[in-house]
Amino acid sequence: MTTQEIKLSKALENGMGFSCQMCGGCCRGFNEGEVYLYKEDILRLAQHLNLKGNSGFKKFAERYLKAIDDSFFWKEPKAERRKPYKFKTLVFKFTGDDERCHFLLGNECTVHSYRPYQCKCFPFWHILVTSRKNYVNYSKKCPGLKESLVKKVGEYYSAEQILSRATEEYEIEKKYFLEMKKHDFDIYKVYPFLPKNFVEEENKIK
Ligand code: SF4
Ligand code: SF4
Repeated sequence: MTTQEIKLSKALENGMGFSCQMCGGCCRGFNEGEVYLYKEDILRLAQHLNLKGNSGFKKFAERYLKAIDDSFFWKEPKAERRKPYKFKTLVFKFTGDDERCHFLLGNECTVHSYRPYQCKCFPFWHILVTSRKNYVNYSKKCPGLKESLVKKVGEYYSAEQILSRATEEYEIEKKYFLEMKKHDFDIYKVYPFLPKNFVEEENKIK
């Protein structure tokens, strides 16, 4: 099962079962990862929180976001192979001793209908469904995936459904990469509402 850019790992060619166990682990970045947000995610969530216009988006960024290093493999039309590009991406700033998303209460998402696509699409991320190794690694962190892998239980998703979600997630990431590339990887041009020195201030905190 494949699209132009995504090929499902053999383990998922007949689909998979998956049911979230509501442990909240992914909303704590599994204690090591990040929750990525792209432009549509930011606008949707900020508007839901009644933070509108440039000043509202600026407040949203100050309260909830930080910039981290990211990379994307891309092949130019005449190039022989893909090469990695490095740039900045926006992710949630975590909070509390357990380093959780600001919108997690107990183990429940308080902005469920407005959550970023990355949250909505888990565990059908392209890095996860194209690699059996990544699928197994994530099953050590996510009890829903563990059930899926070990007991083969959970709500059934066909290969087409998995591929469709993973492709949408990949396309969102690609769209952001191309926009950044068009703007010489200047995040302030892509997100004009970001406060001055947003990236630099975040780096100072680390
Ligand atoms: S880590 Fe897995 S089981 Fe836990 S909340 Fe996230 S998706 Fe659900
Ligand atoms: S927005 Fe909701 S689903 Fe996404 S990390 Fe935060 S609490 Fe979890």
